[in-house]
Amino acid sequence: MSDLILFWHRRDLRLSDNLGLAAARDRSAKVVGVFCLDPALLNNDAVAPARVTYLIGCLTALQQRYQAAGSQLLILKGTPENQIPELAQALSAQAVYWNWDVEPYAQERDQKVREALKNYGIGVHQTWDQLLHGPGEVRTNAGDPYTVYTPFWRNWIDRPKAAPAPTPQGFTSLSTDEQQAAPGVIDLPSVSDLGFEWTNPLPLAPGEQAAHEQLATFCEDDRAIAEYAEQRNFPGHPGTSLLSAALKFGAIGIRTVWAAADTAYSRCRSDETRNSVKTWQQELAWREFYQHVMYFFPQLADGPYREPLKDFPWINNPDHFQAWCEGKTGYPIVDAAMRQLNQTGWMHNRCRMIVASFLTKDLIVDWRWGEKYFLQKLFDGDLSANNGGWQWSASSGMDPKPLRIFNPASQAQKFDPEADYIRQWLPELKDLETADLITGAISAENRDRCGYPAPIVNHKERQALFKEKYTAQKAAAR
Ligand SMILES: Cc1cc2nc3c(=O)[nH]c(=O)nc-3n(C[C@H](O)[C@H](O)[C@H](O)COP(=O)(O)OP(=O)(O)OC[C@H]3O[C@@H](n4cnc5c(N)ncnc54)[C@H](O)[C@@H]3O)c2cc1C
Repeated sequence: MSDLILFWHRRDLRLSDNLGLAAARDRSAKVVGVFCLDPALLNNDAVAPARVTYLIGCLTALQQRYQAAGSQLLILKGTPENQIPELAQALSAQAVYWNWDVEPYAQERDQKVREALKNYGIGVHQTWDQLLHGPGEVRTNAGDPYTVYTPFWRNWIDRPKAAPAPTPQGFTSLSTDEQQAAPGVIDLPSVSDLGFEWTNPLPLAPGEQAAHEQLATFCEDDRAIAEYAEQRNFPGHPGTSLLSAALKFGAIGIRTVWAAADTAYSRCRSDETRNSVKTWQQELAWREFYQHVMYFFPQLADGPYREPLKDFPWINNPDHFQAWCEGKTGYPIVDAAMRQLNQTGWMHNRCRMIVASFLTKDLIVDWRWGEKYFLQKLFDGDLSANNGGWQWSASSGMDPKPLRIFNPASQAQKFDPEADYIRQWLPELKDLETADLITGAISAENRDRCGYPAPIVNHKERQALFKEKYTAQKAAAR
């Protein structure tokens, strides 16, 4: 058996601060990266062209990183349980290393790959890398997984956090003979080769370098992170980090992100700025919380957690759903947000909550329709965070205060008071009065002139209807 180790990249498209890769390099200099384009993940109806574009960009950057470090990233296409073991066997690899993932599909897939490798007598090494604390590390006093965020956060924040892993250096690559013997290796396909098209600029450029630059801009510019607590809720102002896709695909390591936040914290000179950095760290903890609960409660991926929302009598009007998707509900803040999503592949968090509440509580459409639509559009689309956000908004998740209903007008009043965001994404309304854009009380004449629809439902009536249905479901579930 050779000294070759294959490192299977999945959600860790980087060399720096990669625990599994660092462990592989500690064992051998001859580490070769592999990425498998899995049809189960690429050929389903919940794939966003913007996300595929980001992925391919990250793989392009990672190939360059490997080349500069003296090795290579091999691209495979097909079912990982066939492709990875066949490659490892043909190259007589001594082991395949990878980082764990929390998602139910990934766990099942990894189990199959593990078994196939075992049958070939090839070792497997797995590491928790994508979280600061792996599932199981943060438990209640009774030893159970947390189902509520606040106590999770208190426990999670008290634990020491690991420093970034060193970037491995001095790799050896495959020989020419080995390269010729490697089965299934293909050139990295383009986005259009994979059947997708995305022509708009991505909110964040793909790759390790762009993610590091973005982190530095956010954390080193004291304004951004120091004003996060105040600015993060205003969709018209660029007050958040925009690192979600980089974290989803692992273009940056979470320990690196944490260390940058810690450094920013140590520079703070006021309680206000310290609170801001802490608020951002709490968002990173939300990411971990949703991954932990997905790991321990994989049934979340298939449906509601709470009883009243199981078999809920959704109205599911397809015309209403279509209007929501297209940003044509007649509620300016909702429509602006949906247009931002459709055009950029990203939506501000405040607006994700507003449109999710509107779809589920005003249109009374099953949250899973919205969850899927988000996955079809988001460049940062991620099962755990998306499912967590949707279940929170739909009152079907683990949130201890379940029945939240957002009033679109009050939300716009509070978080887009000058209607800057609404005007940016609904340019046809830009000349209207701010008060009308916020309340949505646009005259019929102005609607006709601007080609903007009348509200498709009445918020007050639908709020009452949702509450009625929810109360009946709750009573029936007792
Ligand atoms: C209905 C709904 C759907 C969502 N879908 C996704 C999704 O598919 N992918 C995704 O990454 N986030 C999702 N979120 C969470 C959040 O909206 C995004 O993470 C955030 O808007 C990304 O922008 P940012 O990187 O500038 O975030 P920042 O505000 O800078 O936050 C830093 C990081 O913390 C994490 N984070 C922040 N808020 C949350 C949260 N509420 N839940 C989990 N992680 C969080 C993200 O990794 C983010 O990059 C969803 C939220 C809702 C309400």
